[in-house]
Amino acid sequence: MIEKFFNEGNTHIKKENPVEESFLNKKIIFSEYPLLIYWELTRACDLVCKHCRANSIKNPEQNELNTNQIFKIIDDIRENFSKNTTIVFTGGDPLKRNDLFEIIDYTRKKGVRFALAPSATNLITYKIIEKLKESGVESISLSLDSHNPDIHDKIRGVEKTFQRTIELANIINSLNINLQINTLIYKENYNDLERMYEFLEKNIKPHRWSLFLLIKTGRGTELEEPTASEVEKFNNRLYKIHKNSSFLIKTTELHHYRRTFIKRMINEGKSIEEIKKTSIYRGAGIRDGNGIIFISSKGFVYPSGFLPLIVGNLKKNILSDIYKNSSLLKKLRDPDNFEGKCGYCEFRYICGGSRARAFAKTKNPFSSEPLCLYKPQVFNKFY
Ligand code: SF4
Repeated sequence: MIEKFFNEGNTHIKKENPVEESFLNKKIIFSEYPLLIYWELTRACDLVCKHCRANSIKNPEQNELNTNQIFKIIDDIRENFSKNTTIVFTGGDPLKRNDLFEIIDYTRKKGVRFALAPSATNLITYKIIEKLKESGVESISLSLDSHNPDIHDKIRGVEKTFQRTIELANIINSLNINLQINTLIYKENYNDLERMYEFLEKNIKPHRWSLFLLIKTGRGTELEEPTASEVEKFNNRLYKIHKNSSFLIKTTELHHYRRTFIKRMINEGKSIEEIKKTSIYRGAGIRDGNGIIFISSKGFVYPSGFLPLIVGNLKKNILSDIYKNSSLLKKLRDPDNFEGKCGYCEFRYICGGSRARAFAKTKNPFSSEPLCLYKPQVFNKFY
């Protein structure tokens, strides 16, 4: 039974550390509600980030969801999803909407959890952050793509954005709000991982660090990804940092880090119970359309912000109905529908690969993760 975890391609796991079969063979399907709703309130933003998924623009558009439409969607979230569902208000820059605090007040009154992902501009001030704290914001995330101010500002397209980000991080920390730092990983900065961690550890100490592996969509097509082999090495370097990290670490659209993380823990003799307690295991199975959903400024619904396949329109349809019943979402949730190695890999239920990256590369969201080097055990497919 345990033998199925070991073959020539999987020499990183030692036989003396057996794994329960059920540990990897249990499907993790979020069929009833998402844990995270990424909600692009507007595409407007004063930054011009090189990898912007939203292809941001300067001013809000006429046909964005209006305040009342947004309230109705929040009602649906309250009534038909879980109390653990969290809305991440993002953009563009959500602060470009004049009704942002009306939306936040309504969300709070309805008892729906929310977080905010603002852009590091002068639109967000100490007073606004204080107001967000009073409104019960779960966390605020800021983007920081390098320990080097020039590199960060080059990516964000506006000078002194690095400096503004540090100022805002200090304010958020001083008000005891959970701070998440989001870092884009791409060809030019993946080698800076250790330096970036040291910088965060010394200067910011976020609550959580989220590393997002570039998806070549939106303006992100202009940037280069690391190769699959570079990503494999990156994942192992990240594990080394992660196990001693003083803050939480998660990855976005880098689901195969879960495989590296779990394998390395097993090799170090950690028990299944210990692995199950980690934040990486708790995020197992979450990927585009499974536990995650994305709402665009105009009300279109997508499996994630990086997978541009529309599954509904909130000016006509109900979010909870789309989430539960969309045939594309249902198919995306079950890794047994995936093609190539992600369809039979023994880590598919925990990982499953980025459906967004598969689509960006092949126009088929069910094809294999292009940046994973792993060779799954083939006979698992026939077990
Ligand atoms: S082959 Fe696919 S499912 Fe397996 S670890 Fe790689 S990306 Fe994940």
